[in-house]
Amino acid sequence: MQFSKIRLTGFKSFVDPTELIISDGLTGVVGPNGCGKSNLLEALRWVMGENRPTAMRGGGMEDVIFAGAASRPARNFAEVMLTLDNSERLAPAGFNDADTLEVVRRITRDAGSAYKTNGKEARARDVQMLFADASTGAHSPALVRQGQISELINAKPKSRRRVLEEAAGISGLYQRRHEAELKLNGAESNLARLDDVIEQLD
Ligand code: ATP
Repeated sequence: MQFSKIRLTGFKSFVDPTELIISDGLTGVVGPNGCGKSNLLEALRWVMGENRPTAMRGGGMEDVIFAGAASRPARNFAEVMLTLDNSERLAPAGFNDADTLEVVRRITRDAGSAYKTNGKEARARDVQMLFADASTGAHSPALVRQGQISELINAKPKSRRRVLEEAAGISGLYQRRHEAELKLNGAESNLARLDDVIEQLD
């Protein structure tokens, strides 16, 4: 699947709706300091499910909403729409019913964030899995933020392994294993409780 378009509305410095076409091949983003190049990369991470404020250079998730400027009031919501070319039908089941796949994430002040895929409400987990399985998730090593190279050089082997796992597209499997383990633990404690109840009845 290829990214074909990104649209930002009220996201950080992109207060007015801004649409960028992502063509085949290499895309360069150039501009003076502070014009929003890194904000653009953060928008890409965010729409793919990034939830760590540290990765978004903010204190809380609502910090992605345009905070206002001398001549413009703050906004109440931020929205990013990512359009993917799905003409080769590479999207996983559940997302594979059209030639394009539109993923929208929107955050509203005091109401949290919500996702839509092709106009239908979607769960955060499903959107995160969709990109993690395609090796392009929010933590993808393909998105390199400032300072990340030196962090990687100084990182512990375990953190470096995580980067390789992301690149290999297996991080979604780890997430699923973790969820399965949580369910298993829940089932085991339910069984233990059941044993107690049976013992008391006997
Ligand atoms: P550099 O080349 O220096 O790294 P850049 O082009 O990557 O800069 P960004 O870091 O993406 O620029 O953008 C920084 C700008 O975004 C700053 O002017 C900052 O005030 C603005 N900004 C960040 N968050 C918000 C927000 N929530 N609301 C309004 N403006 C914001």
